[in-house]
Amino acid sequence: MKWKNKPFCNKCNQEFEVPYLWCPNCNNLIFIHPITGPPIEKIELKSMWSLIPFLPKYEQQITLFEGNTPVIPIQNMENLKNLNLKLEFRNPTGSFRDRASALITSDILSKNFSKIISASTGSFGISLAAYSAKGQISSTNILPKQMDLAKIEQIKVYGSEVIQAGKNLDEAISLANELTLSKKSYFPTPNNNLLTIEGQKTIALELILQMKNIESIIVPRGSGTLILSIYRGFQDALASKWISKIPKIFAVSLKKSDGAFLAESLKLENPFLINEVNSILKLTEGEELQIDASEMTKDALDLAKYEGLFIEPASASVISAAKSLIQKEQIDPKTSVAILTGSGLNALNVFASQMRDIKKVVWGISEFSTQRFEILNLVAEKKANHGYAIWGALGKKKSLQSIYQHINNLVEDGLIIDTIPDQKKALYILTNKGQEMLEKMRDLIDLGK
Ligand SMILES: [Zn+2]
Repeated sequence: MKWKNKPFCNKCNQEFEVPYLWCPNCNNLIFIHPITGPPIEKIELKSMWSLIPFLPKYEQQITLFEGNTPVIPIQNMENLKNLNLKLEFRNPTGSFRDRASALITSDILSKNFSKIISASTGSFGISLAAYSAKGQISSTNILPKQMDLAKIEQIKVYGSEVIQAGKNLDEAISLANELTLSKKSYFPTPNNNLLTIEGQKTIALELILQMKNIESIIVPRGSGTLILSIYRGFQDALASKWISKIPKIFAVSLKKSDGAFLAESLKLENPFLINEVNSILKLTEGEELQIDASEMTKDALDLAKYEGLFIEPASASVISAAKSLIQKEQIDPKTSVAILTGSGLNALNVFASQMRDIKKVVWGISEFSTQRFEILNLVAEKKANHGYAIWGALGKKKSLQSIYQHINNLVEDGLIIDTIPDQKKALYILTNKGQEMLEKMRDLIDLGK
């Protein structure tokens, strides 16, 4: 891989070949001088790789034809009419992360690594798994325990090994770090990889090619890397005289921490980027908007019903924000664009729980609920009715002790009952409450099929 302009740390004045986002010596954010590309009329946009003059050069590119996602205006929602939407969920695996994965996996091949270990929450994991498959790189994904089943299963489909460990992303990342050292594999840490920024910046460059005049852009804040990426893309465009001024950047985050599972990607994962993002907002005269998790999910459903676009709840945060910006006349919808980052198909369970009005149990949201469901099913169908048999029927994959723990919980919750409590060995049947619970859970599964 060859850089156009080499990454450097302006604090300790050192250049790097490795795509660090943070300086390994002084922890400063790594910088790349804006790249001057060809005149705008020389670019014919076919995919992200049409923007090669702005990207590092690889001997071998891994691509699934990412980028060149369409921009279309809102037509039927009156309060958002004419607002432009950049459909990033039209990328190969349903998210803007594919732009970063194409560069990261191309880098892995050029460095002759055969194994990749990554830690991420969801979309990035799915994306890296698909691109690893294309490059025939063996991949392992370390995911936090609380994850949407739709995402886990997609990662497995691409042949990636999944390890669920850690309560949150930070714990998963530190485990991935340890494994990487012991197995000598490539560890991309997407949130700490400069190639993530270089790939995602192509969103900004494409927008300039696709829209005549952009005054404002609305972006989910998330870990901050997308905002940094878009700003860097506009900087390249400015250096190439494609634009004369960088558009206003509006960042969207969640109001409360509840419902955070709806929007894992809106959680601030990299506190180091806080200052950077805040200064970008200030420089471009944009601002940060905070919205409600419930409003966001409603807007995602409206977008599907009125515009035919099915996106993740987290991605709909920009729609909620745009509504208030238009209402306050802070933006003109015709010259504004909102980035729709991820597909609704990656968050089916969240929608299932919303549409069926079942708030407590969301199929697949955790391994805990899944195990409970499996045990209830076995008892209901009389396939196993005591601890040891249930353990066997579940393939003895978990410890016997953990199965007993689940059974005890189900008894405490009144979902199953021991029919011979005075004998040493228990025989369980479902209670009416257990039957009701099981039916509710089955309802949710039908949607996933
Ligand atoms: Zn430094």
